Amino acid sequence: MQISQREYQNELDTFLSYLNFEKKKCFGIQMNQENQDCLDFAPFLEHTLNNLGDPFCGEGGHLETFKYERELVRIVSEILQLNAEDVWGYYTSGSSISNLQGVHLGLRKMGENTILVTSEDAHNSITKAAYITRVKQIVQLPTNNEGQIDPDALSEFLSNTDRSQNFVFCFCSGTVSKGAYDDVELLVSVIDQYITKEQYYVHLDAALGGMITPFLEGRPLKLDFSVPEIDSLSVSFHKRVGIPVPGSLFLMRRSSLMTCNANSYVEDYASFDTTIPGSRDGLTPFITLMKLKKIGIQGMVDRTENVLQKAKWFHERLLSYDIKSLRNDFSPCVYFEVSSPDMLKEFHMPTYRKSDGKIYTHIFTMEHVCQNELNNLLNKIVSYKKKDIPVLTVSK
Ligand SMILES: *Cc1c(COP(=O)(O)O)cnc(C)c1O
Repeated sequence: MQISQREYQNELDTFLSYLNFEKKKCFGIQMNQENQDCLDFAPFLEHTLNNLGDPFCGEGGHLETFKYERELVRIVSEILQLNAEDVWGYYTSGSSISNLQGVHLGLRKMGENTILVTSEDAHNSITKAAYITRVKQIVQLPTNNEGQIDPDALSEFLSNTDRSQNFVFCFCSGTVSKGAYDDVELLVSVIDQYITKEQYYVHLDAALGGMITPFLEGRPLKLDFSVPEIDSLSVSFHKRVGIPVPGSLFLMRRSSLMTCNANSYVEDYASFDTTIPGSRDGLTPFITLMKLKKIGIQGMVDRTENVLQKAKWFHERLLSYDIKSLRNDFSPCVYFEVSSPDMLKEFHMPTYRKSDGKIYTHIFTMEHVCQNELNNLLNKIVSYKKKDIPVLTVSK
């Protein structure tokens, strides 16, 4: 197993040049690969930073970054309209874990007689969280063509179901396949026609949208704690901010947490047992906080505008070539039909096969996606499409 210094160095060099080459073609995953400035944090790699337990009540006793983690929680809560007095949350290794935390606490709060309601377009981590927590029933509501939960379907579901049960609703700000934003205010108004707030919990999966909607001019989308019915929320940072290790915050109203019965005390590491993981990455919350503070709100506004413009441009180009394509307002996602899956791997794009045999894919125009590479991709898509069109000889 042991290798020589030379082999070691070789492997490092080879892998690094592979990454530098591939990075500019990473279109298919909603992730910002622009993080050269994270080299500033290289000296911290000499330390093992472990945020063991709850950042608000954990006592550490080891090298940790709780102070920075709490500051990040407060800053992001403010961005997402949650009152600083009423904040609880912690940094996780990604929004899948934040979603698991949301489903877990939702069920702790609502009790055993609870069903989980989400959508067909929800991230797979929501249904997985439901299986892990052994929820008694999962309902996946249908979505419209744009990928949003259909309010009529929610209404129909609630009118036909046993409403003596409790409910955990998981809605989404920025779905994975189409970048759709559920209209949570509207959905909540539908729910309120059937049950009272004591009977339900709302978790918002804002893995992507949580770092987009606050930075839109005039804040046209209300997908944060300004909707009073939202109990908790997930928001990822590797998707927008540019950090080398995936990371997310789980945020929750502290007043809601206090009713969840999830607070036994762990003597081993002097913390209430509120977090799913024990050991947690302490470096990435520190990097995320410092980068966010460096970029600033206006910086995020500008970057968001730029990311959305690129998507708008790409979508319009596809339409000009008569390629079936969809882009939701305020979304960096362009969803479109391709005639062959052959080129998708090259650009790290997913393959969505429909029941009618058609193939769709999508791109996210995140920060590292540059105009040159977009042109390249567009040319490839168009040339594949041409191959697919039978040549017609029109005689008049
Ligand atoms: C990315 C994403 C997730 C999962 O986040 P990970 O960080 O990959 O665990 C969940 N939901 C949505 C909507 C996402 O975009």
